[in-house]
Amino acid sequence: MEKLFSLEGKIALVTGASYGIGFAIASGLAKAGATIVFNDIKEDFVNKGVAAYKEAGIDAKGYVCDVTDENAVNAMVAQIEKEVGIIDILVNNAGIIKRIPMCEMSAAEFRQVIDVDLNAPFICAKAVIPSMIKKGHGKIINICSMMSELGRETVSAYAAAKGGLKMLTKNIASEYGGHNIQCNGIGPGYIATPQTAPLRERQPDGSRHPFDSFIIAKTPAARWGEPDDLTGPAVFLASDASNFVNGHILYVDGGILAYI
Ligand code: NDP
Repeated sequence: MEKLFSLEGKIALVTGASYGIGFAIASGLAKAGATIVFNDIKEDFVNKGVAAYKEAGIDAKGYVCDVTDENAVNAMVAQIEKEVGIIDILVNNAGIIKRIPMCEMSAAEFRQVIDVDLNAPFICAKAVIPSMIKKGHGKIINICSMMSELGRETVSAYAAAKGGLKMLTKNIASEYGGHNIQCNGIGPGYIATPQTAPLRERQPDGSRHPFDSFIIAKTPAARWGEPDDLTGPAVFLASDASNFVNGHILYVDGGILAYI
């Protein structure tokens, strides 16, 4: 059984993984035996990330790379192949959100979200798939969202991007499943990370943020998720345990999608 979930000998690239969900997922993959490489858009975050992994007992290699820049991604993947080896597992984690009412959002802001949350996973997948085909296997995990299924006020670009990412996941599974590449998604619910910190800020009178109260009320688990809640599902989707699972989104949401 242990072998089924083992990632010994595997190389995993987790994008945007200096902290937050990416860091938790990469740490989980490392504990299962994988060698971790990660990137971030800012050099100081890469350095902080390397130090944080070291503190956790993980020897991770970090690269500075903007995942929306196709040439930079191709150069990073080539460098990883040279310095570490062929990537067996890609986790498309880097993402941004802009909470702006749709009619107040500029087309440039909308495009920026689509660029990071949808175009970048396409660019990264495209960069690793040829070597995965040559190697005879590969796992791609796209970090989607509950917003792959729902719409909400102020997240039009994010929902459009994450809905698109769900369909890109299914398409990669269909197109490359014959090469023993499995592409699945993880759809986190509301997870306590810097990205969602503004939604947990206390009001001037000390009461909970209305959205914080909404999450607690609507989530059957009655809490926010923690980044570590994503590690088990990620290890499963990165390992041989999921070899016949392809093109699916695993929602890790404390049950909120089943309830609202
Ligand atoms: P964070 O904002 O905490 O982390 C995202 C990471 O992506 C940061 O390290 C950020 O770097 C990096 N990043 C952003 N843009 C780029 C880029 N162009 N190139 C390289 N790296 C980039 O987010 P979370 O940890 O909260 O989220 C991780 C993923 O999970 C995202 O895809 C998000 O959409 C998804 N998700 C999160 C949920 C939540 O509740 N937190 C819920 C559902 C989905 P930097 O900080 O240096 O800019």
